[in-house]
Amino acid sequence: MVETLTFLVDPLPVGAAADSFDEAVREVETGAGALAVNDFAPHRGDGVFETLAVIDGHVQEVGPHLARLANSARICELPEPNADQWRAVIAAAAARLPAQGEYALKIALSRGLDPGPKPTAWVYVVPGADFTAARERGIRVITLDRGIDRGAGERAPWLLLGAKTLSYAANMAAIREAKRRSADDALFVTSDGFVLEGPTSSVIVRIGDRFVTPPPAAGILHGTTQRSLFAHLEATGRTGEYRDVTVDELRSADAAWLVSSVRLAAPITALDDVPMPVDEDATRDFNAYLLSPRD
Ligand code: PLP
Repeated sequence: MVETLTFLVDPLPVGAAADSFDEAVREVETGAGALAVNDFAPHRGDGVFETLAVIDGHVQEVGPHLARLANSARICELPEPNADQWRAVIAAAAARLPAQGEYALKIALSRGLDPGPKPTAWVYVVPGADFTAARERGIRVITLDRGIDRGAGERAPWLLLGAKTLSYAANMAAIREAKRRSADDALFVTSDGFVLEGPTSSVIVRIGDRFVTPPPAAGILHGTTQRSLFAHLEATGRTGEYRDVTVDELRSADAAWLVSSVRLAAPITALDDVPMPVDEDATRDFNAYLLSPRD
């Protein structure tokens, strides 16, 4: 079994010749100190990243992840990532993995050395944790006030709320707070009572026969898993809808899930210690779809 893989990548400009891709990537020993201490990533969390699932040798949703990486880079005023180079690097890393099993493949683009001419980048692959229990038995979730109101994303774009930046310390703190309160995960809500997202996931809520999720403009990341599930809902005669969801609506919803690339769809079984109904059929359908090869 492959434990971890790490590659340092020299991020090439858009349009660079494909025959320069091989020279721009170098495998390093994981944990061997490959990143310079004067890089903006370890100092400031100043960079962007993506986590892609590799399931039985297939890298899921490469296009949507690269599109979001490009969007995060744009929001953070980083150079536009070369999608062809990233596709080649992702494919080369995935080719090193066994044909069976789940892996998390992380790609990152930092602002680079301080001061420096260009970003640094890397790929890091780790075996996926066993999420069978979360997918099948569900998760207990607490709501946590994110300390911003519904308009903050639009009013304060410098908060970079729609970008997947390397600054995840607050997100990790929210998960620790959830664990301290005997829950599995957290769900951020606004100070004026709207549902946002989990620290590492999007939320989908079923209200009657409608599946709803908060719009990205609410100051959240646009989830690739949520988008993929909405496409699946449309393809199977159901509807996914973007709209604001109040915390009160969530509390009385018919079902809700936290969804993300590697854990996939985890039904919420309790919200703030109050049991929530679980839609077992939809959960099975969602995870069967998410486990199938997707591009
Ligand atoms: N929201 C946040 C803050 C996240 O960190 C993530 C994933 O890590 C998501 C949503 C879900 O995104 P995706 O479905 O693309 O994994």
